[in-house]
Amino acid sequence: MIARARPEKSTARRWVYMPEFAQEQLPRYTSYPPANRFHGGIGPGAVAAALESLPADSKLSLYIHIPYCQKLCWYCGCHTSVPTQADPVDSYVDALEAEMSQVGALLPADARVSHLHFGGGSPDILRPAQIDRLFAALRRNFAFARYAEIATESDPRGLSSDVIGAFARNGLSRASLGVQVLDAGVQERINRIQPRESIEAAIAGLRRAGVESINVDMMYGLPGQTIDHVVETATFAAMQDVDRVAVFGYAHVPWMKKHQKGIDTNELPEGEARFRQAEAAARTLEQAGYLPIGFDHFAAPGDSMATAERRGALRRNFQGYTDDDAIALIGLGASSISSLPGMIYQNVADSGRYREALSERRSPVVRGVLLSDTDQRVARTIERLMCDFTVELPDEWPQALPLNLARVINAGLAELSGRTLNVTAQGRPYVRNIAACFDPDLAPQPGRHSLAI
Ligand code: SF4
Repeated sequence: MIARARPEKSTARRWVYMPEFAQEQLPRYTSYPPANRFHGGIGPGAVAAALESLPADSKLSLYIHIPYCQKLCWYCGCHTSVPTQADPVDSYVDALEAEMSQVGALLPADARVSHLHFGGGSPDILRPAQIDRLFAALRRNFAFARYAEIATESDPRGLSSDVIGAFARNGLSRASLGVQVLDAGVQERINRIQPRESIEAAIAGLRRAGVESINVDMMYGLPGQTIDHVVETATFAAMQDVDRVAVFGYAHVPWMKKHQKGIDTNELPEGEARFRQAEAAARTLEQAGYLPIGFDHFAAPGDSMATAERRGALRRNFQGYTDDDAIALIGLGASSISSLPGMIYQNVADSGRYREALSERRSPVVRGVLLSDTDQRVARTIERLMCDFTVELPDEWPQALPLNLARVINAGLAELSGRTLNVTAQGRPYVRNIAACFDPDLAPQPGRHSLAI
């Protein structure tokens, strides 16, 4: 493990467990307004007009959703499925190519892609020839900045050297590996058997192919998981000297994600046990020299996300924390969400209907929302709070300050100085609770969102 400089600011002192906040069910605020405000009034016509009126030299971020996996993990909250017909992936790649051509034709000629991210699902389900086809179509339909970051999410179990080679020859610069947990007993309980050696082999293969930036995702709150399991996984990530680690709490919503019924509810760590797992992950990673970024990311001090955080340029988009400063995020593929200035829209979620729309040369856009001035103010306030842990409240805040802000201030989670709201050290793990004070759309709806911690 490489010794790193000590973090300037640390959440490593003991976290204070406050069940009335930790147990609240809240959005993760990767975007605002929430998806329940999307409606069918925003369709292909409105989206085409918005894409055409992007500023001439816009920086763009592209997200490509691959909604297939070899096998379902029972904890999964993503939009994915196991392919059942002979080769739906090939026809899905056809549809993606068609969508790229539709969208690319609408963009200003000088627009440049600065970030490209493959997510899913498991993008490594693609065969090398399909990866080459997608990149050829991307380069045909979009202009890329010379410094563009090209990233993919990966399941170490499916990451063959051929797949790594195909992504690498097309310029892959960052890979995010789903590690989640190393303990074999917990892996069995979540239907994801993934020996440590397979993860080490995936990381070594990526580095051999020249992909230097490696991220790891890990989880807490899984069935049968203990603090020791969390520490083991976080220590492993640090020993692999990865650049970033994202730590996610398991969200148990079997009424929304049917496969989660495979998880035994009685084995889920609850209350303070779950909270202490989140704390143990943060403590282990910070002691290994990683800097805390937002409430669930940790980055090596030299990583671009740590630099963005220091500059106050950290952002939040549908994938979570990012250093991506593009003004438009364009999602391609079934269920993908796009964010343009003043508008969010989404493609049809069903991959069969997505393929059908594109094969008939129709747009797959089905719903969205226009952002009012108030929406944009709320979105900015929540984003800065979640990224910087401090925010200057706009003078034109629509009404008096939110009433529930007094609750988090009285609890010692935040302090108000003039119009500047600062999250205290004690409040950092609870930043979703503080952000929620500014969300006018948040209605108590048990089971809709994940636990705050
Ligand atoms: S590999 Fe990832 S996307 Fe696929 S089922 Fe498992 S967690 Fe979900």
